[in-house]
Amino acid sequence: MKYLTEFRDGAIAQKLAAEIRQMTTRHWAIMEVCGGQTHSIMRNGIDQLLPSEIELIHGPGCPVCVTPLEMIDKALAIAALPNVIFCSFGDMLRVPGSDRDLFRVKSEGGDVRVVYSPLDAVQLAVQHPTKQVVFFGIGFETTAPANAMAVHLAKKQGLTNFSMLVSHVLVPPAIDAIMRSPTNRVQAFLAAGHVNSVMGFWQYPPLASQHRVPIVITGFEPLDVLEGIRRCVRQLEAGEHEVENAYERVVTFDGNRAAQALLEEVFAESDRAWRGIGVIPRSGWKLSDAYADYDAENRFDVSDIHTHESPECRSGEVLQGAIKPTDCPAFGKQCTPRTPFGATMVSSEGACAAYFNYGRVVQLERVRVRVHA
Ligand code: SF4
Repeated sequence: MKYLTEFRDGAIAQKLAAEIRQMTTRHWAIMEVCGGQTHSIMRNGIDQLLPSEIELIHGPGCPVCVTPLEMIDKALAIAALPNVIFCSFGDMLRVPGSDRDLFRVKSEGGDVRVVYSPLDAVQLAVQHPTKQVVFFGIGFETTAPANAMAVHLAKKQGLTNFSMLVSHVLVPPAIDAIMRSPTNRVQAFLAAGHVNSVMGFWQYPPLASQHRVPIVITGFEPLDVLEGIRRCVRQLEAGEHEVENAYERVVTFDGNRAAQALLEEVFAESDRAWRGIGVIPRSGWKLSDAYADYDAENRFDVSDIHTHESPECRSGEVLQGAIKPTDCPAFGKQCTPRTPFGATMVSSEGACAAYFNYGRVVQLERVRVRVHA
């Protein structure tokens, strides 16, 4: 297949779904790691094509959702400082911190700007030499190379007014933590294909074999997701636990080695708190010692941050697959994309937003159909 439309072919989708139905003999719980896959599943009704024995668990792969509250509050504190231009991608502006969001800081006079690339923030630093320009560098391995390049270029140009608030998270330690959890129900993973386009999948075989769990590298179009599920179910039914690449048009075993070398130079592994989940050892990146001068946490005094989560929001349980968004009492009532309580409703990749936007507003088992005689 060469064109995008071919990965959305309804007849092939029905055929794949029929194959999955035919090979399924019992309940299987499969986690799609990435929020982009969750949205594809909801948008295309893939969950409704599957046999009832297949349970899809939505994973923690939404970068905005898992950015820890402490980092959001640090961003808010820095953005409110005079003489600072605080740059971020648009999604981050509405993510609630402990008591406000970046939009509120902007409305109160903070110079908060939406940029489309971290390199735009570097450019702003060149254009505004008397201001401190700070970029909020969040996300998984997918966004990290562009952020690494921005810091690399800032250093190369000798910029002293650019820094980055870094909160990068990594997929393999998250898979490991999910499998180690005593409450884990996940039996197979659809790995996030765009992460693997950068990192390859050489890190995955030890995970699959240690936890005896199938991991299938999967893309984001409906047929990509269905094929990923089909391969997971085939392995589960056969008692196998291999790493398979179902996204060969984008992902290779090695990944992008040049990008990986840049990441290794600019970042260093660190323990990282995931919002709603807690600290996962060695699950993130911070700036390496060679780039410590560009770390906004070193440049600004933001150590005295006290956080408090919304008591109503259950996004931590949503992110761990413990509950579906519709299990949250606030879902679709007090909490909507216009009045979000949590990042999972704010983010374009959030599971709560996916359920809201694609109409999974009522749990099917709670629907009562009245039959008139
Ligand atoms: S529906 Fe809203 S309040 Fe409930 S978990 Fe999702 S974001 Fe949080």
